[in-house]
Amino acid sequence: MKLGNLEFHIVIAGHVRLDGGAMFGVIPKTMWESVMPPDSSNRILLAMNCLLIHAGGKRILVETGAGNKLSAKLRAIYDLDEWRLIEGLREYGLHPEEIDIVVNTHLHFDHCGGNTRIEKDKVIPTFPNARYVVHKGEFEHAKNPSERDRASYMPDNFVPIEAARKYSLIEDDRVIAPGVELIRVPGHTADMLCVKLEGGGRTAFSFADLIPMTPHLGLPWIMGYDLYPMKTLENKKKWIPKVAQEGWIALFTHDPRVPAAYLRERNGRWEPEPVSIG
Ligand SMILES: [Zn+2]
Repeated sequence: MKLGNLEFHIVIAGHVRLDGGAMFGVIPKTMWESVMPPDSSNRILLAMNCLLIHAGGKRILVETGAGNKLSAKLRAIYDLDEWRLIEGLREYGLHPEEIDIVVNTHLHFDHCGGNTRIEKDKVIPTFPNARYVVHKGEFEHAKNPSERDRASYMPDNFVPIEAARKYSLIEDDRVIAPGVELIRVPGHTADMLCVKLEGGGRTAFSFADLIPMTPHLGLPWIMGYDLYPMKTLENKKKWIPKVAQEGWIALFTHDPRVPAAYLRERNGRWEPEPVSIG
């Protein structure tokens, strides 16, 4: 997909299954099970959709999926399939060494597990020539999480990046390349980042985990994982109408069927109209 001089692709890093109840918060199972059918362990399928962006001569990767460092026990809990980010990049002719910037919207393991990999018993950056970007507040929280969200943060995904001095910690919204802006949108965590892509008069907006999948376009469909669900609600009411009315392409980080869509209002609800990105 091209937006003027900016080009981007969706690269699927893999799939994970998470508890359907946790994914839909206060929404009763009788409502969500027909939209997202659970398996026998009540888990629903999520994709881990990454973005590969070419902008201003830079190659930028947004999210890195779950990686391949997890134990067999955790892989089974989350029904993780194979991490395919490196193969996915290769399909676009790219090696890990050629990535200039890696954006972590936040540091939950399903978003930044591919930041690092194991070589000879050492955990090293997967993208050796990249600057990694994350919000400073998210980084500090990840190093000292609460009892409630500790399971989502795995130090091996971000501590070795810090040790290699490869992190750029941002405190304000930031344009990291022409047409690529990172915008702090609290709710899922205090300092999660969304990504706005602009070029040639067109715009795409990655909701990250503000609206992880299309069913979450419904305002009360908010993840149980969210630390600040009322902030999520406030930001959904701010960003969904904006994306819809301005004709932006909405990008969904976890939707296994609809990674990209225009948003249309129908009978007071927002509905996705899928877009093919490639
Ligand atoms: Zn997520």
